Formats: sequence, structure tokens, C-alpha cells
Amino acid sequence: MDAVQTLKRALGTVGRGDFETTGPGDITWPREKIAVFVQGCLQYGCETHGKISTPGWKQRSRINRDRAQRTDQDLASRGWTVVRFFECEVTATTGSAVDTILDQFDSVGDDLDDAHVEMETKVRVAIQDLELRVGQSALIRFLSVVGGLGASAFRRKDVEHALIEREGWAIDDFKKAWRGCMHHQIIRYRSDGVHTAALFKPVMKEMGIK
Ligand SMILES: [Zn+2]
Repeated sequence: MDAVQTLKRALGTVGRGDFETTGPGDITWPREKIAVFVQGCLQYGCETHGKISTPGWKQRSRINRDRAQRTDQDLASRGWTVVRFFECEVTATTGSAVDTILDQFDSVGDDLDDAHVEMETKVRVAIQDLELRVGQSALIRFLSVVGGLGASAFRRKDVEHALIEREGWAIDDFKKAWRGCMHHQIIRYRSDGVHTAALFKPVMKEMGIK
């Protein structure tokens, strides 16, 4: 059984047989963006078996390693995690190769979870602060107006007009709400000077609007 087959079988026994073999690697998990390559010892020049190969193979293995490096850089730039083994590593220490692969799943999952928790915390802090500034019902109205204008790009004076002139808001309340939203990046300036609502949707959702 070759090294890739050995690794596939071992992954199956630890419940990670959900890989595909058509992705960029020999073994690939497209959803988690993890690609595993098993490199021939001679073709890629491993520490042990590369030394005893002929000059011709040494040159060829250098070319292969350079190409592999470019592949890894390309994959990494598209968000992939790449793991490479030599055949002899897989066959001699299959268990540790599997552990190395399983570690990648942990780090991918943790990153996503951490980012999610961070976002939720940010949103909750923002809402608490804004409720202190303008009160809950005013905040809901403010967010509804921004949402009505289209959260991806709008003008401040349109929000101001809708709230102050049409609904009789105090100008100070509008400024408190606006500044608070800017402070928490619920609203922010784009480089072209237009306003966008960066954290708008999660804030709306957290407040139970719409
Ligand atoms: Zn080797």
C-alpha cells in the first residue's frame, strides 16, 4: 500500500474520512480549505533518501521543491492551509502525520469561533453604549431609517432630514446616535466619503429589528 493510501486509511479510523481526492492536494478538505500533499522521497529529496540519490535526481528534486513552494504560496494567498509530508514520514510515523493533520482542523475551527465571539461582543457593547446615549426606542428608529436608506451606502444629511425634519427629533439626539454609531463602526466613512453601515446587520439582528 502506498503512503497516500496508508494515510487515507489512518484518517478514516480517526473519523476524518470525509476528504476529497480531486482538490489541490493528494488529500483535501475543500470546506475547511486544508490540502495535504504526500511527496515522493526521491522526487522531492527528503533528508534521508534524498542524500543517496543521483545528481540528476538531486537537480530534479530542487525544481520540484521550488514548484511546491510556489504552489503553497498561491494556496496560502487564497486562504488554504497546506501540509506536506515525505512518503517515509507517512509510512514510518503514520500516527504523528495524522495528528499534524488533525491539528489543522483545530486551528481553522478556533479562528472562526474566535472571530464570531469577538464580533458578538463588539455588537453587544455597541448596543449598550448606544442605549445609554439615546435610549432603546430612539436607537431602533435610527437604525430603521438608516436601513431604509440602504445600509451599504447613504448620506448623513438624508438620515438627518428623515429624523429631524420629518419626525421632529432633537438635533442633539441625532448627533448622539450618529456619533455613537460612528464610534462603534456601525456607521463609518468609506474612502470616497460616502457612509456605509459596517456592523449594521448584526446590530439590527441583536436588537430584534426586522
Ligand atoms: Zn524519505
